[in-house]
Amino acid sequence: MDERAARIADFIEPLRVAPGSAVDLARDFDPRYKAGLKKQDGVDLLRAGVALLAEYQERLAAQNTYGVLLCLQALDAGGKDGTIRHVMSGVNPQGVKVSSFKVPSTEELDHDYLWRYALRLPSRGEIAIFNRSHYEEVLVVRVHPENLVRQKLPERARGKNVWKRRYREMNEWERYLTDNGFTVVKVLLNLSKEEQRTRFLKRIDLPEKNWKFSAADARERRYWDDYQRAFSEMLSATSTPWAPWYVVPADRKWFARICTAAILAHTLMDIDPRYPEVGEEARQDLLAARRELEQEAPSGAAADPYAERHPSAKGGRRSGHGRPAGEKRGRG
Ligand code: AMP
Ligand code: MG
Repeated sequence: MDERAARIADFIEPLRVAPGSAVDLARDFDPRYKAGLKKQDGVDLLRAGVALLAEYQERLAAQNTYGVLLCLQALDAGGKDGTIRHVMSGVNPQGVKVSSFKVPSTEELDHDYLWRYALRLPSRGEIAIFNRSHYEEVLVVRVHPENLVRQKLPERARGKNVWKRRYREMNEWERYLTDNGFTVVKVLLNLSKEEQRTRFLKRIDLPEKNWKFSAADARERRYWDDYQRAFSEMLSATSTPWAPWYVVPADRKWFARICTAAILAHTLMDIDPRYPEVGEEARQDLLAARRELEQEAPSGAAADPYAERHPSAKGGRRSGHGRPAGEKRGRG
């Protein structure tokens, strides 16, 4: 188990933005990097990652202390939707909440800028995924300052230091969340300009992909360099020891998915959620309930059909090393 955790930590380390480092996205991160892997290796690795996530998510859902927030950022066609679909394919939908953030509504603009994101935070035991996140507030809002005008800020809050202030506010907000049991992890899917061009053309060429493309996407592409600058500054200012950024190479979808699964798995392994142990009193209640259920066995049926089929499983005689992973909440 520890070896598995160490391998995952090594795998994602080159993607992590060291807190305090000055990032130049184009210089420091290659959208085509694939850690020497081949697409064929990717199939097995993703399957292993998805299984690992399922195991840890079940454990997370069973406890009531920690929650996880995964923020996903990317330019259009960066692969956010597909990454979420694949990475979360094995987990229990009841424990995961995905929220997408679009152009803010009138009601949203009538609140402080973090309000709508706060409404979508995970509860304890949950994984929340932000498909776009509060980081749009220093990305699209910065690249198109007319968005800031619509936010109805007081005069003194609109000055040139607004972006630095937002970095600080978001860092502090994430620190607050972390201190209170909610781990925050952030992924930028890093796409090259040429790969975006290819994916846009695919969306135009294939009728069933047309809905995914709009003329606005092509217009937004003209601001490519502005976005790269905004990304670099955002990464430099907001990768913190408590809520790090990972820059995931996104030109190969299969590799981006493995990386994202590994980052989320690493986060969960770090939390190491445990199935709650029941106290002695509750255990006595369970044993009493068992005796009652056993007495209800119809004639010819085993007293405890489950224990009969799984002779080693009969709980209530606790062994020294806790219960095995995979056992459910509430079992004695
Ligand atoms: P999509 O993710 O393709 O459905 O598009 C959502 C759109 O909403 C993108 O063009 C984003 O740039 C835009 N958007 C997301 N958040 C904000 C925001 N805070 N202010 C302005 N536009 C935003
Ligand atoms: Mg779009």
